[in-house]
Amino acid sequence: MPCVNRRDFLKASAVAGAAVSLREFSLGAERVVVAPNAAPSWTDKPMRWAQLTLVEDDPGTFDLNFWLDYFARTKSDAVCLSGGGCVAYYPTKIPFHHRSAWLGDRDVLGELIAGCRKLGMVVIARTDPHATYDDAEAAHPDWIHVNADGKRRRHWASPEMWVTCGLGPYNFDFMTEVKREIMTAYRVDGIFINRWDGSGMCYCEHCRKNFRDASGRDLPRTNNPQDPARRAHILWKQERLFALWQHWDAAVRAINADSCVIPNAGGGATSSLDMKRIGELAPTLMADHQARRGVMPPWGNGMRGKEFRATMGRKPIVGIFSVGLEEPYRWKDSVQSAAEIRLWAIDGVANGLRPWFTKFAGSVNDPRWLKPVEDLYRWCAANERYLRNERPLARVALVYSQQSAWFHSGEGARRHLDDAMDGWYHALIEARIPFEMVHDRLLDAEHLAAFKTLILPNTVALSDAQCAQLRAFVARGGGLVATYETSLYDEWGVRRKDFGLADLFGVSFAGKTEGPMRNAYLRLEHDMARGHPLLRGLEDAPRIIHGVHRVEVTAREKFPAPALTHIPSYPDLPMEKVFTKTPRTDIPQVFLREGVGAGAGGRVAYFPWDIDRTFWEILSPDHGKLLANAVAWATNEPAPVTVAGPGILDITLWQQKGSLTVHLVNFTNPMMMKGPIRETIPVGAQQVRVRLPDGLRAKAVRLLVANTTPKSRADGSWLEVTVPAIAEHEVVAIDV
Ligand SMILES: [Zn+2]
Repeated sequence: MPCVNRRDFLKASAVAGAAVSLREFSLGAERVVVAPNAAPSWTDKPMRWAQLTLVEDDPGTFDLNFWLDYFARTKSDAVCLSGGGCVAYYPTKIPFHHRSAWLGDRDVLGELIAGCRKLGMVVIARTDPHATYDDAEAAHPDWIHVNADGKRRRHWASPEMWVTCGLGPYNFDFMTEVKREIMTAYRVDGIFINRWDGSGMCYCEHCRKNFRDASGRDLPRTNNPQDPARRAHILWKQERLFALWQHWDAAVRAINADSCVIPNAGGGATSSLDMKRIGELAPTLMADHQARRGVMPPWGNGMRGKEFRATMGRKPIVGIFSVGLEEPYRWKDSVQSAAEIRLWAIDGVANGLRPWFTKFAGSVNDPRWLKPVEDLYRWCAANERYLRNERPLARVALVYSQQSAWFHSGEGARRHLDDAMDGWYHALIEARIPFEMVHDRLLDAEHLAAFKTLILPNTVALSDAQCAQLRAFVARGGGLVATYETSLYDEWGVRRKDFGLADLFGVSFAGKTEGPMRNAYLRLEHDMARGHPLLRGLEDAPRIIHGVHRVEVTAREKFPAPALTHIPSYPDLPMEKVFTKTPRTDIPQVFLREGVGAGAGGRVAYFPWDIDRTFWEILSPDHGKLLANAVAWATNEPAPVTVAGPGILDITLWQQKGSLTVHLVNFTNPMMMKGPIRETIPVGAQQVRVRLPDGLRAKAVRLLVANTTPKSRADGSWLEVTVPAIAEHEVVAIDV
């Protein structure tokens, strides 16, 4: 993604009134990066976070000692406590900083901080700047968010309040004073900033002027990312937010050099903020994906861990989970089932997230969450050394592309991309292939060194430079699996004449796409491609369902034995007409190439249709097999861990100082796709076969949940372990 070259941005904006083309802004290498400040000394210490988000009437009612006791019992080693912004929980002196009406002469923030410090916890204060009151609005009308109709915006949920502008003086000035006051009074370890990035499109006087100064344009009135003003705004808003983050960070560090601000960052791949830049700036970060909603498998939490790790590397990443429901009706005072809370949280832990529970309100209306979270945290504390991961050992990586999401246009475009990603994610989980995620602007040799295979899930928007990086990866012997319109657009979402990766795919774009297709099929060419690993598990299937969208291509070279060919759509009604006149074509629907590139030469599999998106929609096991087989074929080496046995498990493989771990999270449950989980359904014996990195030998093996020593057997550099059963989660820990 697009990060605007700040110099060019300023240069362009200096030309008064001139129309600015984004083509003048470069993406990437020569961008001016403000060197990130050093990480505060505490960031790598906490492994178990607690958050108590106070509500305004808490100071009159809540039981301080209950919470301090709970923090101690859960062995939480860090805490986030409500400080100010919307409501101040301490005797603030800043005008328009609203003290809790229940505060009296108490200093609730100070009391909580003192108690938590006695427990040895890292303490950060939470601020929330997204809403304010009538007195602030009357004195500073320009602090308030303005709608497209020019009217200042009342808060959607608390209509006595006003929504603030995230990009103007309310945040840059007022909230900076709030942070200074909190840091001066309490010298907390950091300040967490919630809902700091505005509440949608603001048309206030500051946004209008600042955007015009920067881009020469009026604020956009369309969401079409191909509109020049919208495109400029996508980039400009990020510039403002990164500037705000750094402004706040400098302000608190000037008071306490061993602190920082921590902006809440929910999105990951779907974020409107550039994750690559976040990865450069943030010493630690909280992935805010608190619980399931709608149709969402339990791997949604682990996915955030992978997305954040792609740009954060080894920096500590914390996963916020809620004890309550996260559905659109926002029952913020609710409690989920114990099994649901725990499975969501533990999949984060299995994927490298340090857990952070969040509780809204100091009063406990429903105590059912307390024990499950306490049990989970105590287990995490007892096994801390096996959760301090040094690196994942997965060899496969799924690429995510924020620029594709930002700039790809058209009806359903964004959804199509998300569904392709989810389809791959689910297929890899079902196939029990451990994998990581990679950011599409970190495709350099260093970031890809750990991986044998990259997956491009309809990664539509890729620059020429990114295509060159992928070409180099394959030339070094890497495998590539790509689908549908991958690389058919440049980094701005503008369609190319041909795929940027046409040479790797061995095919060119023939000028059109087809879809939605109904009643179309794939013929499995067992005669021509007998025994091909792509068709493994489908030996008895002469044909299977096709996808829904396909792109027409022309081969640039000979593909003599295609494994899949196209059977075009034919009528699905009346039933008498449901037969095809073309049961066979010679149109390949997968292109497999070996020895690609100048060097060692890797393998490339390209599906010119939406197999991944269709898999997410239909979940056909035939498509699942093709996806898994394509990855295994492209990778062309034994997987670093295999797990044989019943059920659906999320499998992750890690190295720590002095050990390896294999996490097995059991998703086998009738509520797997849509929670809440009612009960854990245990699965039976699993045969785990793990390869020890070169030079390492197993000294001891332990199952960390069952707390037993399993049967194990060494076989050269491989270790075989029998896990007798898994309830919610098991960890095979191998001391080396
Ligand atoms: Zn504004």
